[in-house]
Amino acid sequence: MNRRNFLITPPALALAIGMGGASQPALAAPAIITSNSRILPRDGKKPRIVICGGGWGGMTAARYLRELIPNSDVVLLERNPTFWSGPMSNKWLIDIVSTDFVNHDMQRPANLYGYTLLQTEVTGFERDRKLVRTAHGLIEYDFLILSGGIRNAYDAWFGNDQRAIDYTRTHFPSAYIPNAEMFALKRKIKEFKGGTIVMTLPPPPHRCPPSPYERACLIAWHIKKNRIPGKILILDPKPKVAPIHMGYQTAFQELYPDIITHVPNAKVVEVDPFNKRIKTTAGEFKFDDAILMPPHQAAEMVWHAGLIGKDANGKPTGWADMHSRLFHANSDDSVYFVGDLMGFISDQFGHYPKSGHVANYIGRIVAQNIAERVAGKEVVARLPDNLCYMMVNAEPQEEISVKFEYEVDAASGKVIQTQIDMDVRTEDLVKEDFAWIKEKFSDFLAI
Ligand SMILES: Cc1cc2nc3c(=O)[nH]c(=O)nc-3n(C[C@H](O)[C@H](O)[C@H](O)COP(=O)(O)OP(=O)(O)OC[C@H]3O[C@@H](n4cnc5c(N)ncnc54)[C@H](O)[C@@H]3O)c2cc1C
Repeated sequence: MNRRNFLITPPALALAIGMGGASQPALAAPAIITSNSRILPRDGKKPRIVICGGGWGGMTAARYLRELIPNSDVVLLERNPTFWSGPMSNKWLIDIVSTDFVNHDMQRPANLYGYTLLQTEVTGFERDRKLVRTAHGLIEYDFLILSGGIRNAYDAWFGNDQRAIDYTRTHFPSAYIPNAEMFALKRKIKEFKGGTIVMTLPPPPHRCPPSPYERACLIAWHIKKNRIPGKILILDPKPKVAPIHMGYQTAFQELYPDIITHVPNAKVVEVDPFNKRIKTTAGEFKFDDAILMPPHQAAEMVWHAGLIGKDANGKPTGWADMHSRLFHANSDDSVYFVGDLMGFISDQFGHYPKSGHVANYIGRIVAQNIAERVAGKEVVARLPDNLCYMMVNAEPQEEISVKFEYEVDAASGKVIQTQIDMDVRTEDLVKEDFAWIKEKFSDFLAI
């Protein structure tokens, strides 16, 4: 028996075979489940769609698949016991919203919409047999959706130096993958007594491009309000703040002139977490504390599925290799991608913004695409849009925002992006932001 595959919990095993003395009632041995067992038997001939990752994209796809294909058997696999929202989590860091606002029950929407939710780790795939490997066993599928979000590519900084990776993750958490690191960062902010906090920004493409600047503004607001002798140094690999360039520059200068310093063209060259030093293409910096965000890549599940794209030199792109208009894998049209792990879309702008808004949109589009295929209809290529609101001031609460619109260029057939920045910070945008999140949460969390 392969020990890794053996899933009886030790106390249950002890009861079953070791502790049943003569005076105790005999207990039947529980069925032995290994990760090679097939679980979740099929329900007749219903099409089975398995979704790996129950975040913004995966939960949306699950809801719409059940609605659009009423006789479908939809299974959502998620490692976490509850849903934690990235959007609004910067505001949660400084108590503008409560934990209940960002953290939600996943079983309720599953029961309401009629899909099966299984809390488990997706560990691999056997695509030739249309099977997903999980910590609980093997699950069959007809269609597979990968929606596992991102991974922190610490290896880009540290190679396989696991000690440096673990030290960085535990002492200078990036808190861009919900949810444990979020608590660590919140505690860090609460306990901050002064000094220089360095924030590294990942190179594009990365999860929610405007949100690290929002985080810097809100931490700066906390520093200003509590008169903490602290500074924030944003080490940005890009040549300028983007998106919402003017809105952020103005907020940095008008609201936090003595606290925030933005350093452009600061690509990370070397990180020494033990001695709190970082070398970049814009110079070397020492820090007292830090939020060290490494490069982002597609979640491990895309690597496990063997569906990462390759560049012209045959090197992994780090993101899914997919059809830019229909969102299925280029090499396997039974596998779809939803959310931040998606790959290249267009020469003009690269990737769709890695946002909750886009993940939600694509989750619905992919459900529509699969429904069309199940019904034997022609699949329609659809485009998303994107909208992000960012809080830059907490007293009074003021936000800026950015909208992206997409269309297909008639001449080239390529997807074209138009970016509209709302650079003037207003209280009205805060109201729009809260209305936006209410609409999104009601869409896939049914609240
Ligand atoms: C601080 C911050 C602020 C943000 N602000 C905004 C904003 O204002 N607006 C906006 O639109 N977006 C915002 N975002 C971005 C948004 O959170 C992401 O773009 C969105 O969550 C992407 O959805 P997803 O479904 O691809 O990934 P996620 O929502 O991260 O979901 C992926 C899920 O897959 C699960 N998973 C991964 N691997 C496995 C596995 N092997 N087995 C089982 N489960 C697995 C994860 O646990 C997770 O629940 C923000 C993000 C952060 C961190």
